Amino acid sequence: MFYSSLSGMGLASTKAQNALDVDEARATAEETKSEADVLKHDVDRLMMITEALWAFLKKEHGYSDDDLAKAIGAIDLRHSGADKDAQEKCPNCGRLISAHRHLCLYCGHPVPQSLFEP
Ligand SMILES: [Zn+2]
Repeated sequence: MFYSSLSGMGLASTKAQNALDVDEARATAEETKSEADVLKHDVDRLMMITEALWAFLKKEHGYSDDDLAKAIGAIDLRHSGADKDAQEKCPNCGRLISAHRHLCLYCGHPVPQSLFEP
């Protein structure tokens, strides 16, 4: 009798703890969603600004999409610390990207990784 009442209390305590864990997980999920919404808003805003700047540069200064792709490729290489030999073609769009990327910088397609690279 004594032991059964103890085990019953343990079960109630576990249920209460589980309810607290669920509440905490729910709060964390809502907080994470809010952070993701803010980041999505920031990305959307930056995409509009970038698109406007690019339209201006093409129209007013005659740059082409190839000029932009070359500049992005150079920055990609510089940021990854890779040399020019460490580039590979995206299997989807065919553009050159740093071999260290897991997703294509231009189209987002997954890039197969070498089995021997970390
Ligand atoms: Zn691509």
